[in-house]
Amino acid sequence: MPKIKETRLEIDLDALAHNFQIIKEQVAPSTQIMGVVKAFAYGTDSIVIGEKLVQLGASHLAVAYIEEGMRFRRRGIKVPILVFYPQLEDLPKLIKYNLIPSVYNFHFLETLQKRLKRRKISNFPIHIKMNTGMNRLGFDLEDLSKIKDNLLSHECVQVTGLFSHFSSAGSEEEDDFTREQINKFSLARSYFKVEISSDFIAHLANSSGILSHPEASYDMVRAGIALYGYGNNPKEQSLLKPVASLKTVIAQLRKIPKGASVGYDRKFKAKQPTQIATLPLGYADGISRIYGNGNAQVIIRGQKAPIVGNVCMDTLMVDVTGIECQEGDEVEVFGQQQSALDFDKNKQSIPYELITRISRRVTRVFLNENTSL
Ligand SMILES: *Cc1c(COP(=O)(O)O)cnc(C)c1O
Repeated sequence: MPKIKETRLEIDLDALAHNFQIIKEQVAPSTQIMGVVKAFAYGTDSIVIGEKLVQLGASHLAVAYIEEGMRFRRRGIKVPILVFYPQLEDLPKLIKYNLIPSVYNFHFLETLQKRLKRRKISNFPIHIKMNTGMNRLGFDLEDLSKIKDNLLSHECVQVTGLFSHFSSAGSEEEDDFTREQINKFSLARSYFKVEISSDFIAHLANSSGILSHPEASYDMVRAGIALYGYGNNPKEQSLLKPVASLKTVIAQLRKIPKGASVGYDRKFKAKQPTQIATLPLGYADGISRIYGNGNAQVIIRGQKAPIVGNVCMDTLMVDVTGIECQEGDEVEVFGQQQSALDFDKNKQSIPYELITRISRRVTRVFLNENTSL
């Protein structure tokens, strides 16, 4: 492994393969796995991760926006790619790059149909998104007969998938609600099979759905955060390995006397002689100011060093009093020694947010690129 010289995000493809395997073991052999690679594959790197997932056996990929999907097509990735939030102004690109839109309301459906008809395209694949309780995007169950009337009178689109999204599949207190979502989805699926078409892929489960409600796997599951090594409860977490490790180095060490302050607005004042390490990592790299003032910690020589004072744009300071360390020493912000959950000591955010916000300024380094399963 290269010696750490700067702030970098190490991306361990063996960990990705491990997590993929865990997901595979949860679902039936016939269940397909869609790898969710939106937001630069949860802050890692879209292309390398997308290619690796296809190699591991993902049958589909999913992104949030059309532009994200186009990047995979340009790199020659051929698997079906679902776009969760296609924007109407990008429809020509959706068609050109053969991306599958998630269709969640009549406005989008009818606009898409008009455009397809104008170009004399028929049987363009779409996935219909149902709202089963999340109340974010999706048709309601009451819309089903109107959807049927529409689909049976238009040849231009073909429903190749029907899906919905869990709100709280990782939380046991909401199991009743989750079961209600599963029941509603099953109803919609049956309606489609009987009234519209029997040839589509039904998918409901996200990571927590896969790990906590594998009975609701249907024909395909959509794996996001679990692929990157995070679960939504301790049981899910125990199965997975974090893929991304954020590392940096100590840029400067300094002893300060009792009463001296650190950083902007003097937010930290030493109660005793203190040793401070400055790290070249700040909010412009994705470590939010919410983690300042003792709300998060890093690992140096195996020991915890809390962030002191406000996080700056390019730097932050940690208290290393009592830790034998030197300038140039490696620092783990999150990764193998402490997960993104442990870094965020006071649980002010969730791993999803922390890992997707590591900015493009941070160098990505891939580990175990050439190992296969
Ligand atoms: C982001 C997203 C997923 C993946 O969710 P995870 O909890 O990360 O597994 C699945 N489906 C939809 C619709 C999403 O927006």
